[in-house]
Amino acid sequence: MTIEELYSIFKEHRTITTDSRRCVCDSIFFALKGENFNGNDFALRALSEGCAYAVVDDPELATDERIILVNDVLQTLQALAKLHRRVLNIPVIAITGTNGKTTTKELTAACLSQKYNVLATEGNLNNHIGVPLTLLKLTKAHEIAVIEMGASHPGEIKALANIAEPNFGIITNVGKAHLQGFGSFEGVIKTKCELYDYIRQRGGHVFLHHENIFLQPKSEGIEKSEYGETPGLFVSGKLTSCSPYLSFDLMRQGGSPVTVNTHLIGNYNLSNALAASAIAAYFKVPDMAIKKALEEYEPQNRRSQLLKTGNNTLILDAYNANPTSMNAALDNFIAMDASHKAVILGDMGELGADSEAEHRKIVDKLRNAGFDKVILCGTEFVKVAGGLECYPTTETLTDYLKSDLLKGFTILVKGSRFMQLEKCIDLL
Ligand code: ATP
Ligand code: MG
Repeated sequence: MTIEELYSIFKEHRTITTDSRRCVCDSIFFALKGENFNGNDFALRALSEGCAYAVVDDPELATDERIILVNDVLQTLQALAKLHRRVLNIPVIAITGTNGKTTTKELTAACLSQKYNVLATEGNLNNHIGVPLTLLKLTKAHEIAVIEMGASHPGEIKALANIAEPNFGIITNVGKAHLQGFGSFEGVIKTKCELYDYIRQRGGHVFLHHENIFLQPKSEGIEKSEYGETPGLFVSGKLTSCSPYLSFDLMRQGGSPVTVNTHLIGNYNLSNALAASAIAAYFKVPDMAIKKALEEYEPQNRRSQLLKTGNNTLILDAYNANPTSMNAALDNFIAMDASHKAVILGDMGELGADSEAEHRKIVDKLRNAGFDKVILCGTEFVKVAGGLECYPTTETLTDYLKSDLLKGFTILVKGSRFMQLEKCIDLL
């Protein structure tokens, strides 16, 4: 079956199912493979559960007329998404970067939604499967798509750009993360800049963080709009407060300042909010609508959330961590106006050969930060903690917290996803 023929079927059915336990009636099942499963094994079940067709790549299954046999199910899904995106032909904005992709995506979608019907990546579905599945949700009613693109290895952004064919792009920042997969910080920059390479070749527009010295030279030769803290840019912002929530004055080139009082924690969110503002301003969303969208947005899912428990005030940032975001969170916390500051920090994952040195740098920073209490957790921190209080696992940390409850502190809780530091919240 050609991709065009499959597209005709898709146009009739519209919905894709990839999990046979959650079949949508009359949808098309795609038999994807994972580390521990082969979707082909579930194709017949998907049909019996109500899917209209099943796309498989195991020739032995081709016994039912509702089975569509292809060479490679994943590549077919991606090709279908690419074709659908081409047919609908609306502006596609790709968002990548080391930190702040989801936050920037959410803020951008919120701002653009003030004026347009926007499709945005759901949650964090930013990989080779999530991107095509998102694109396949596009309908004729959508006017703009905002697509998050994640990567942990070279070539991944290039591949995602080739599927989504973005005409607009933004790299939120470049920092130290996934060093194991990228090989080095240079590898991070090169991979993120695959988005610029795509837009340079195919034509399009990028939004550039003016003060980013790594990205500035890489964006040469591309049409762009700049945002940042330097007055006079396409969109600029001046931080006015961050204790605890971020407030800033937003200014469009030639316009008057507009005060924005967000519900975001962390001065690092200024660049995310300005990125969203710049994109919205480019698409002619009025200033007051941008302000409204940014002010109404509440972070989800353990991303820099402020929680008041009976005992303490928590800055819960247990969603993820890497050296760049850990430093940003600590700098923000050091500057924050609060008494009795404590930190509970978990290991940062996937740092390969740089792991020990990067954990050591965080420990050195903590020694000079003047916090009232420092608690570390994880086997990487154990190696370099010196005299600092450190627990090898989240379980041993929770055992300690049960025996010695903290009270009256403002506590920053941050660590990589696998540490699951949110497990100790009930004890804080
Ligand atoms: P992922 O790689 O998991 O998709 P992401 O890039 O989508 O992450 P977010 O989910 O938006 O990032 O934010 C995760 C955490 O990263 C935040 O809770 C915060 O600690 C940190 N962070 C967000 N924005 C920035 C930024 N601009 N600079 C540094 N750290 C940031
Ligand atoms: Mg994300």
